[in-house]
Amino acid sequence: MLDFSFTEEQELFRTNLRRFCRDRVVPRLDEMEREREIPDDLIKAMADMGLIAMSISEKYGGTGLDAVTAGIAAEELAFADTSCSIPAFFLIQNAWGYLLDKYGTQELKGEVLPMVRRGESFLGVATTEPDIGSDLASMKTRIAKDGDGYVVKGEKNYISGVREAERHGGGYVTLAKMTPELGTRGMSLFYLPIKGTPGIKVTYLEELGREGISWGGFFIDDVHIPRHYLIGEENRGFYIVHEGYEFARGMIALVCAGAAAKSLENAMNYMKQRQAFGQAIARYEGLQFALAEDYAKIEAARLLAYRALWLYDKEQKGGNISRFEVSKAVAMAKMLSPIWAFDTINDAMQWQGAFGYSKECQEQRALRGVRSFTLAEGSTEVMKLIVARELLGREYLAYR
Ligand SMILES: Cc1cc2nc3c(=O)[nH]c(=O)nc-3n(C[C@H](O)[C@H](O)[C@H](O)COP(=O)(O)OP(=O)(O)OC[C@H]3O[C@@H](n4cnc5c(N)ncnc54)[C@H](O)[C@@H]3O)c2cc1C
Repeated sequence: MLDFSFTEEQELFRTNLRRFCRDRVVPRLDEMEREREIPDDLIKAMADMGLIAMSISEKYGGTGLDAVTAGIAAEELAFADTSCSIPAFFLIQNAWGYLLDKYGTQELKGEVLPMVRRGESFLGVATTEPDIGSDLASMKTRIAKDGDGYVVKGEKNYISGVREAERHGGGYVTLAKMTPELGTRGMSLFYLPIKGTPGIKVTYLEELGREGISWGGFFIDDVHIPRHYLIGEENRGFYIVHEGYEFARGMIALVCAGAAAKSLENAMNYMKQRQAFGQAIARYEGLQFALAEDYAKIEAARLLAYRALWLYDKEQKGGNISRFEVSKAVAMAKMLSPIWAFDTINDAMQWQGAFGYSKECQEQRALRGVRSFTLAEGSTEVMKLIVARELLGREYLAYR
């Protein structure tokens, strides 16, 4: 039986969150863009509302709510902050907090998760390096046993949230090679603290959009980490990290849909009041047809994304769903949503004429923010490779 409705609790969660966003988030958008950060009091308000890392278990201060509800949060936050800064801040910590909660040691979880939940430290993911992103098997960063713990050497780049981790404290769920000759079967996942860690040097990059969250990298120069910072088993990191990526990708698809929905709303308001050739431009079928097509695409993106997160929930709870089915569902949503959202926002700019091209118009923010997601947390092309792999079979992968 198919049921496309949200639960009463989910509907209430959405209503409360939309009110919170209207009152607390929307009035701060210009300030966030100007100051290039999310104000501390807003982070605190999000934490007080139970939003930050909401999917972690109650034991560490979370709500342990399902992935679909996290998707609602991602969508609503993007509807309010179309620059995608706050949504990125939310989804990154939610996905990686969840993963750390699932695979981290008790000691590590106790050290990291409560502070992340309270908005007092940042938790992100670091797999990408200056020379590799999609091709994780070619990663150069190494982790090796060292006495009672491990030593890590390498460099990560194009990483979200480095200033937050450096300033507030916190760190990254990080992937490195432990047994290089085993390729992806020889990678380990661990927690790498940033602030005040000897051997860590943070670098910064300027993003095209998402001004409220920082971007950059860090050098890792023989950094010693204790044994309990390992996340999951040694040499299983490549497989574990993808569980986090799948959760993040599902939420990203809804972030893009949320931002595009806001642009459609803005554009429709404009089209109704803007007059040309003696009537409102909303009356012209040329615009109506494009609007209808874009709306349908965003609705399709939402359905793909919610289905992907629903499957993710089922699989995580031990349901009869394979990991590969989840990977494919998530990849389909992440493959289409950023592109459809980008095109929709671009159309919404066009329908608002010259005003649409001005900085005063919100759509330029949304366009720049959504654009990041054809790359961040896995490129569009990699999503296509995943879908094709599941359709054709692994033996047709161009590489192994
Ligand atoms: C805003 C932003 C935030 C990010 N935040 C983080 C973060 O927090 N943590 C983190 O670890 N990384 C982060 N990334 C990095 C992101 O994960 C990578 O950009 C992404 O995985 C692609 O890697 P790459 O940039 O090295 O491109 P490459 O892998 O070098 O690929 C370059 C191009 O070739 C395409 N390509 C590669 N291989 C194939 C193939 N086999 N077939 C067809 N096409 C292919 C890619 O899709 C891409 O278009 C972020 C990126 C952005 C833009």
